[in-house]
Amino acid sequence: MPKVKYYFDPDSVSYEEIRTSRWIRLTKGLAFVATAALFGLIFYLLSSSVIQTPEEIALRRELRFVKTQYGVLNEKMTQVEAVLSDLEERDNNVYRTYFEVSPIPDDVRKGGFGGVNRYAPLAGFDNSQLVESTARRLDAISKQMIIQSKSLDEIVSLAKNKEKMLASLPAIQPIAKRDLIRISSGFGMRFHPILKIMKMHTGIDFSARRGAPIYATGDGVVAHAKRSPSYGNEVFIKHGFGYQTRYAHMWKYTVHKGQKIKRGDRIGYVGNTGMSTGPHLHYEVIKNGKPVDPIYFFYKDTGPEAYKKLYQQARENNQSLD
Ligand SMILES: [Zn+2]
Repeated sequence: MPKVKYYFDPDSVSYEEIRTSRWIRLTKGLAFVATAALFGLIFYLLSSSVIQTPEEIALRRELRFVKTQYGVLNEKMTQVEAVLSDLEERDNNVYRTYFEVSPIPDDVRKGGFGGVNRYAPLAGFDNSQLVESTARRLDAISKQMIIQSKSLDEIVSLAKNKEKMLASLPAIQPIAKRDLIRISSGFGMRFHPILKIMKMHTGIDFSARRGAPIYATGDGVVAHAKRSPSYGNEVFIKHGFGYQTRYAHMWKYTVHKGQKIKRGDRIGYVGNTGMSTGPHLHYEVIKNGKPVDPIYFFYKDTGPEAYKKLYQQARENNQSLD
């Protein structure tokens, strides 16, 4: 039953019933619903965009922080990439070139990863692109680092080998300068003093007094130390890397077969044994089984001027003593 409302009428001094039409009541009802809906909407809009829960505020702050961190990370990666690129350049153009190994091509150094898309789990989020590109860059840097590290390992082993090679090659004179009277014969065709024929002289003759010490010209192992009819007392050293040296007509030798030798070790004394016409050392350098001119193997203790003098002596003097 609808409520009945009254009002006080001063004219009749009595309470009269308020009669409202259906139309007015409907209008009032609609206005109430519309106002309520409007307030509801305003409240919703305010609460969703301006008023944030403490959790939302914290999350947003964290997101900003993470984005900043990614920015810093990317800047650092740019620096690392620059350093790495410089290192790769030097590796290819200096280290690998020096040790005679081919440079590592760019597509090997910077090639991507084949097979399945390893970045698929990173897709589909708000900041997927940032995270994925960062992951890609980091992966590329890691791969470049591994390749560079392996390359340097290779260079280190080559350098060690090179060091051994440099120590092994014949590189000094077998007779000390103070003991050397002169080079009496160089490498080439010579008149043999005993056989009396033109004959290839496969070494250099160093004239020195009997008993002057003879030194090994590079690291190696004594292949033999023995007496032979032509070379007299001789020492033969294997240096490795295709090199051997012979020291002949010795008064006596002080090493034995199989003995390890360092450059500069004394191996015997100058003499006049075998087919020889005076005290001297016949010295040979043999490369891959063939005698080569020893004049090219004194670079370690001979400056340009001294070398020139030595070279002229070896070319001009052909008074072979063996
Ligand atoms: Zn000789």
